[in-house]
Amino acid sequence: MKSVDAHLADILAAVRPLAPLELELEQVLGATLAETLTSPVPLPPFDNSAMDGYAVRSVDISDVPVTLPVTDDVPAGSQELRAVGPGHAVRIMTGAPMPAGADAVVPVEWTDGGKVSVRIDRPVQAGNAVRRAGEDVQAGEVVLEAGTVIGPAQLGIIAGVGRRSVWARPRPRVVVISTGAELVEPGGPLALGQIWDSNSYTLTAAVREAGGEGFRAGTVGDDPGVLLEQLDTQLVRADAIITSGGVSMGAYEPVKEALSPLGTVRFEKVAMQPGMPQGFGVLGDDQVPIFALPGNPVSSFVSFKLFVRPALDKMRGFNGGMPESVTARTLASLRSPAGRRSFLRGVLAPDGTVSPVRGQGSHQLAALAAANALIVVAEDVTEVAEGASVQVIPL
Ligand code: AMP
Ligand code: MG
Repeated sequence: MKSVDAHLADILAAVRPLAPLELELEQVLGATLAETLTSPVPLPPFDNSAMDGYAVRSVDISDVPVTLPVTDDVPAGSQELRAVGPGHAVRIMTGAPMPAGADAVVPVEWTDGGKVSVRIDRPVQAGNAVRRAGEDVQAGEVVLEAGTVIGPAQLGIIAGVGRRSVWARPRPRVVVISTGAELVEPGGPLALGQIWDSNSYTLTAAVREAGGEGFRAGTVGDDPGVLLEQLDTQLVRADAIITSGGVSMGAYEPVKEALSPLGTVRFEKVAMQPGMPQGFGVLGDDQVPIFALPGNPVSSFVSFKLFVRPALDKMRGFNGGMPESVTARTLASLRSPAGRRSFLRGVLAPDGTVSPVRGQGSHQLAALAAANALIVVAEDVTEVAEGASVQVIPL
């Protein structure tokens, strides 16, 4: 059997970072910035008021209360500015440019709010409530480094420095196809022998959580021909494909039957539990990676975490590797088959203890949903005593 590490290494060797594209603001959320973003102008671009109030010369209000004539009204966006003369005040709104002459803003709350003249009750220091040009960013300054994942705030600064588009690696588009003649859509009734398709929902969601764009292509039964047709249709929009089911040793294994003859996808036994049968390879002229995961729900989920997630990281421009683990103390003894690395489902508590959930079968979806961690038991360990230290992958 192939080791988990060797299988991951093969996958990472075959997967490439997606080429950067010029992505518009509307498309760039979740993408990985592939340029160093600088600001062409200082931000703010001009001195402006931080508050609604009155622009004044601070020396004019050192003795308060004082009443000053109001000589102008400056809303945000104002382009015609009259200077503030000695002994005068100008009504000003948040974000409006500071008029010449003024060196401070008195918040409206410290005044009577007058429009013709204003009574000011408190003195202010020069610079009060004034935002200086360039105090956020200087012209030419780097605002985002290449390799930054673009979230809402990063999108904000891209727009905030005036860009319509940036060079970025897009989120990988991943098509998820589940196989199995027994599968029916959730929401409908079950006949004898049928189950509701859960894997395609889990895997599509896992893709999204991993920073990809997940597309659920629906189930294709157990006919290898139908699967090949579906793959053909989906390849055009896919940076990667995930299938579930149909990779084991029995009959009616459509993924294995359809893809083995191509010679670009290998089906192997990986020394792990759950998830021993694994397929991986590439499809089509574009060498689109395909992950043929086992059908048992826990197996496909664990396989995603171990193999697909690191590959998606690499496609996004990061180092793909094993998921991070932490050390915990097990509150129950554990068993694991010799020669295989186990990923037992467990509940990791804040006090650093972990308990395996009841139901460690690879079909036990409810037990998986109750877990928040995978307890890793090494290949050469068959028993772990209660109280022992274990490595745990938080989910
Ligand atoms: P297979 O790998 O196709 O032999 O499937 C292994 C087990 O996983 C069988 O019990 C299947 O019914 C189950 N299974 C396969 N695909 C799915 C799916 N999409 N959702 C839920 N269970 C599945
Ligand atoms: Mg099947």
